[in-house]
Amino acid sequence: MAASEARVICEVLEAVLEKKVFTFVAVGDERTCPECAGFNGQIFTEDEAESMFDYLEKNHTVWKPNVHPNCRCRLVLMFED
Ligand SMILES: [Zn+2]
Repeated sequence: MAASEARVICEVLEAVLEKKVFTFVAVGDERTCPECAGFNGQIFTEDEAESMFDYLEKNHTVWKPNVHPNCRCRLVLMFED
């Protein structure tokens, strides 16, 4: 999917759900675990992220999913309210 298409989908999702929408961004190097690589590029609403990731750290626009110890992946907010 092209990035522009993903943005459009997220705009629609946010409008319909009235929730924040995040994209999972895995750090793409040799240390990325298969689990994180599998999440890469997936889209989560804030509710989905909260139920999916037990050790979620919420910051302003970038949340840390902490999929595993020393996880460097990020959930990046697509749009500000
Ligand atoms: Zn990770």
